[in-house]
Amino acid sequence: MKVIAKGARGLKSRFYGSLEPLNYISIVFYFKEKRDLQLISQADIRNYFNRIKTDLEKYSLTSIIFEVILRSEYAEDPNPLLFNSVVQFLESLDRAAERYENHFFWLLLKFLQIHGFKPRFDSCIHCGRGHSEEVDFYFSINRGGLTCRNCKTSEATGIMLSHPTINYLLALENTSHLGISAVIDSKQAVKESARLLNRFMNYHIEGLAGLKSMDFLSHIRSSANTKNQKSNTGNGAQTEQDT
Ligand SMILES: [Zn+2]
Repeated sequence: MKVIAKGARGLKSRFYGSLEPLNYISIVFYFKEKRDLQLISQADIRNYFNRIKTDLEKYSLTSIIFEVILRSEYAEDPNPLLFNSVVQFLESLDRAAERYENHFFWLLLKFLQIHGFKPRFDSCIHCGRGHSEEVDFYFSINRGGLTCRNCKTSEATGIMLSHPTINYLLALENTSHLGISAVIDSKQAVKESARLLNRFMNYHIEGLAGLKSMDFLSHIRSSANTKNQKSNTGNGAQTEQDT
């Protein structure tokens, strides 16, 4: 649905400041069936997420999330489950003092789960061998789960995952938004997770193939390099609406 706020750019507008990108807002609008653009009569801010807007690394990760959602084939339909997860992601990332990637991966795993592509990290999808029984497991991109060494021969799209990475992704998949910051990360786990989720989403989610921002790894690397360089990014991703 498309909406318009008349006179929103004026300094004296009642919408002043509330319709900026990345604001979480409630709106009141008048729905007329024959109209393509619906008219907003009121907009109230529920959260600014100011600590995301003023942190380059947080802002970059959030931009990728919004681009993935907007470019996926599911963007057109209302999805309260995904919307609530995005709000929880924004609230927890806004508060976070470290481990920003945890929040990013948590939301991507939620996105996959909501759309029926939840990856399986607990045991081999062929023989059921537990993930703690071997040093390394492969992850089958097309089957969406771990494959042990014995079963690997039948898999053409397997990529190797180390134990710390499997434990990291399992912990993120099983935690609520309140526990994201407490999940212990490592450079290796972040790197392998970025590579895995990038390939997995490109393979399964229509609309993401060829998306430049799907190159999570380079984003995360460059944002890691600019850590502690706080920068005020003025505009960008996407405005959330909930009514
Ligand atoms: Zn197996």
